[in-house]
Amino acid sequence: MASAACIFCRIIKGEIPAFKLYESDKVLAFLDIQPLSSGHALVIPKYHGAKLIDIPDDTLTEILPIAKRIAKATGAENYNILQNNGRLAHQFVDHVHFHVIPKPNEEQGLGVGWPMQ
Ligand code: C5P
Repeated sequence: MASAACIFCRIIKGEIPAFKLYESDKVLAFLDIQPLSSGHALVIPKYHGAKLIDIPDDTLTEILPIAKRIAKATGAENYNILQNNGRLAHQFVDHVHFHVIPKPNEEQGLGVGWPMQ
């Protein structure tokens, strides 16, 4: 169930703009508005749940392959996949999200496959 107060639910509904990288009926990926590096993206379930344990398995299984595709499209050899749960674990948006944080070679930039189509 979407939450009217949730910023990521509002992005899913198109009420708040985002640079979208991928969308399916269960998953959305978009660029982080405060990127930690070039190409920093978020992959989220459309299902609203605050923490990993709140998300149905059949949605979770669709998320990691998209994170993989994004990581590959950046061309970065080094990257982090990060998913925070709870304030003490540095979660500030209470809608599950997986960060894809490339560590691109600053001279070469991101790969020719970027942004992912
Ligand atoms: O894991 P955590 O909750 O700390 O990360 C939330 C992320 O959501 C931040 O990196 C922030 O920049 C991003 N964000 C965004 N678009 C918004 C609000 C937050 O990309 N409208």
